[in-house]
Amino acid sequence: MFDNLSERLERSFKILKGEGKITEINVAETLKDVRKALLDADVNYKVAKSFTDTVKEKALGQNVLTAVKPSQLMVKIVHDELTALMGGETAELVLEGRPAVILMSGLQGSGKTTFSGKLARMLKTKKNRKPLLVACDVYRPAAIEQLRVLGEQIEVPVYSELDSKNPVQIALNAIHEAKAKGYDLVIVDTAGRLAIDEQMMNEIEAIKKAVNPDETLFVVDSMTGQDAVNTAREFNERLDFNGVVLTKLDGDTRGGAALSIRTVVNKPIKFVGTGEKLDAIDQFHPARMADRILG
Ligand code: GDP
Repeated sequence: MFDNLSERLERSFKILKGEGKITEINVAETLKDVRKALLDADVNYKVAKSFTDTVKEKALGQNVLTAVKPSQLMVKIVHDELTALMGGETAELVLEGRPAVILMSGLQGSGKTTFSGKLARMLKTKKNRKPLLVACDVYRPAAIEQLRVLGEQIEVPVYSELDSKNPVQIALNAIHEAKAKGYDLVIVDTAGRLAIDEQMMNEIEAIKKAVNPDETLFVVDSMTGQDAVNTAREFNERLDFNGVVLTKLDGDTRGGAALSIRTVVNKPIKFVGTGEKLDAIDQFHPARMADRILG
């Protein structure tokens, strides 16, 4: 992941090797390369432009200490700005309700159901929560079955109503059941579609309104690049979600989604999915991701 971007950035910093100080000319040359590297990694055009503008301003504005080489200074500034671009601080889940409710949203195939299982497992084992998973996809029986199988693997019960066609009611009934049976966390997996469609949006909006979740997470496949960013924008306009989950970061994603989403929707990335297995989930730490990108 990000291999190509890392390599390209490293190469662009080489322009400054051997230079005695930062100048308008060598900074412009370096940042032209940096911008190209970002665009080739599928970073949103406006995001790439404002990124390099900020780096330029900082680089030229810093009094270069004789001890710091221009290339080192540039790496440091780019690192700090990449961290800021991805949100700066690590964004935690805020789960205060009893039960706390997490609503999953996203397109079909984004990894929503898998992530629901991963998150239930993580919060159960690491935070000692007692989760109940809820299958709200009333269109695809296979989706309910998939969640049931995941639940069995992680020993978390799955609430479903095979005969119901009303996902809002299913979610409300599940919360009722959680209260009655002492579950302190309800994770609601919803129906996705292959592309944005009005009915899906209305449905998830109605579920959100009815259950008033502590966290609404938007799950997106990082391999889809710019599409991921556009889909995030549309879901955010309708749902005003709290956080993003980037899945399939184990594939050869170019990184554009990870680097653009935060700026475009102004919502933090909270988790990443790094594989099909149920333990392939990580909290998202912007500074550590910047470390990885810069090698
Ligand atoms: P949903 O339709 O949004 O519920 O998506 P699924 O959870 O069914 O996932 C779609 C496919 O992506 C499945 O084959 C998953 O195993 C796979 N998948 C989900 N998350 C990841 C991930 O982080 N990495 C990889 N490599 N595959 C994933």
